[in-house]
Amino acid sequence: GVVLQDVHRTFATPSGARPVLRAVDVELDAGEIVALVGPSGCGKSTLLRQVSGLDTPDGGRVLLDGTPVTGIDRRTAVAFQEPRLLPWRTLAQNVALGLPAGTPKDAGRARVAELLRLVGLEESARLRPRQVSGGMAQRASLARALARNPGVLLLDEPFGALDALTRLRMQDLLLDVHAAEPATVVLVTHDVEEALYLADRVLLLRSLGAGPDDEPSVARVIDVPGSRPRDRADQR
Ligand code: ATP
Ligand code: MG
Repeated sequence: GVVLQDVHRTFATPSGARPVLRAVDVELDAGEIVALVGPSGCGKSTLLRQVSGLDTPDGGRVLLDGTPVTGIDRRTAVAFQEPRLLPWRTLAQNVALGLPAGTPKDAGRARVAELLRLVGLEESARLRPRQVSGGMAQRASLARALARNPGVLLLDEPFGALDALTRLRMQDLLLDVHAAEPATVVLVTHDVEEALYLADRVLLLRSLGAGPDDEPSVARVIDVPGSRPRDRADQR
């Protein structure tokens, strides 16, 4: 699982120190899906970066399966709102970029084919990003993240740029993918309905600044009882 212990992060700005994360204490079980919800600028992406190792807390620590995250951590994989695919590479080549270094060629090819199948892109393997829809590009981006076989999948508003119907399809796809390859998932979303549909727990973050100096970033932790995605998927 993922453990954040008293994580703090403050940024220096021209107008002074700006605390963004304060006293974040969270334990995520392996295989759990947790949604991060909160106002724009409250620190959701910053929190994800503490887990991926792209940024380092200035207080507290982050543990993955009991070992601290100290730099960019290969046990995690990230997908963003924009797919960030290389435009001159095919979807298959883009997915292959996510494979762990040193993956033998044949094994890599088989894994890429498997992932493309998982996200429903087997027919589009040879297309380039500009030849596919936003939803397809986003599925390729998800497959690339999964290629690393991450214990922890960090999704930063992964469906935010998609139309409503594609978004619903992607939510169910994520549940299918999670059932097939159960990583611990931290999902940032502005969509409360999406959070409640997908997540086992929802973490509500607040913006620091206006409130008291000792107010922690996590305002509420909401269990979603009986809403385990696995129980609800067939009710749609
Ligand atoms: P959004 O919902 O708009 O994506 P967010 O909750 O993801 O917002 P963050 O991107 O985590 O918010 O940013 C939180 C705050 O920290 C913002 O005020 C941002 O300007 C500030 N911030 C983030 N990274 C840095 C940095 N490297 N240096 C200075 N300030 C930063
Ligand atoms: Mg963000």
